[in-house]
Amino acid sequence: MPPKPVNSELKNFWKLGNEELNTQYFDITRGGDLMIKEGNYQYNVVELIKKYGSPLEIVVPSIIESRLKNIIDYFNAYIKLLDYKGKFFYHYPMKVNQNKEYVLPLISEGANLETSSANELWIIKRLWEQEKFNSKIRVLCNGPKTQKYLSLIDELDRKGVIISPVIEEERELEFFKKYPGEVGIRVDLSVKVKSHWDKRFNHFGFPEEELLKIGKIRNLAILHYHISSQIESLDGITAPIKRAMYIYKKLKEKNPQLDTINIGGGAGVPYEKRKMYTTKSLINKVVKTFKSEADKLGIKHPNIICEWGRFAVAPAQVSIFKVISQKEIEGSTQAKAWYMLDGSFINDLKDTWAIKQKWHVTPANNLNDKKLKHVWLSGSSCDSDDIYTNGGHILMPKLEEGYDQYVAVFDTGAYQDSLASHHCLLSSPAKIILHNGAVTVARKRESPEEVGKLFGW
Ligand SMILES: *Cc1c(COP(=O)(O)O)cnc(C)c1O
Repeated sequence: MPPKPVNSELKNFWKLGNEELNTQYFDITRGGDLMIKEGNYQYNVVELIKKYGSPLEIVVPSIIESRLKNIIDYFNAYIKLLDYKGKFFYHYPMKVNQNKEYVLPLISEGANLETSSANELWIIKRLWEQEKFNSKIRVLCNGPKTQKYLSLIDELDRKGVIISPVIEEERELEFFKKYPGEVGIRVDLSVKVKSHWDKRFNHFGFPEEELLKIGKIRNLAILHYHISSQIESLDGITAPIKRAMYIYKKLKEKNPQLDTINIGGGAGVPYEKRKMYTTKSLINKVVKTFKSEADKLGIKHPNIICEWGRFAVAPAQVSIFKVISQKEIEGSTQAKAWYMLDGSFINDLKDTWAIKQKWHVTPANNLNDKKLKHVWLSGSSCDSDDIYTNGGHILMPKLEEGYDQYVAVFDTGAYQDSLASHHCLLSSPAKIILHNGAVTVARKRESPEEVGKLFGW
């Protein structure tokens, strides 16, 4: 019998193939397996698991590239359309994912960079020494600055890198007093936005009043704020812009060379596959707000920098696990069984545990199965917190004797890798890269020797 054609109902049901949900890169094969699309090239995820094993992290650099291209193109288009006089610059915040397979495609597609630590800057130093990036790329240095970090900024400035420290506090202000290059300064805005990260007490940046008391700051070019990550409403993006524009105008009175506002990160990803905002509407709103606020205040349009890292890279990675056993759940009205996975939420998708992150989870095979079950997922560390319930249940096919069931977790490209750990001495998953139809291994599955070594064995 010829295999059934996949209907769009099935894709709708699993929320795949939908651009507004960032799942346009995924489809379902005729046999009901998860498919990843790289342009018009197609990969069958089950075939990848059979070859590379599970748990498996799958990275698709073309997704990163197309998302960055979208950001840059939309900014430039709206700048033109709205007759905005400032320029746009994208800076990739390396802390979101420092892996080579993320950073290099971004550089190649036109990203500038932003670091949060001395070790991230060390990577940039090495790339610079090997002449791996165009000397026009600008590097912004954020985050608390240890002596090592400060010295490295100085060193790279002397070597000719366009590098601007973003001053966070008094000690840095003092240190960079004679800095020959341009500097930025970070303000702790009085605005609050709805998000996990916008705390009541914020320890980054100068409070508005203190900042305005400083007066003249040598070579000040950038006013920076980073209010939060994963801001789910457009007002949460525009309210801080409005406030920053006012501070910018005040700051510019004593610092006429100030010409740029850096709005930091914040653009969100629809992890739960509810529509949030499109890239187009987001960027339209940002440029419009910049223009109307600047015009209202009667100031020259500032250049715009954004550091939307999660937004650019989260959808570029899928994590795949295998169900190794099931166990009935007594007395829950939400789920019937635990599906135990061969990987770990607490280790490899740390935000599940740390901030109760919700993910889009689907089967990676049997997507056309009609017999679905309400389950909870558990990781293979022996920790009762190593679970994922989706705050309710997850739908998975019923397990069948003789068939493996795989689980796909989407949008795992942001933050999870550097937060990953080795609870119960579990190995990190293998990681593969899909690029131009070819598959390469970026990280082999860790052997017991390798994990043991980390603990002195
Ligand atoms: C973490 C961070 C970002 C990235 O924010 P996302 O919204 O998660 O992409 C950008 N800028 C600064 C200064 C940060 O600390």
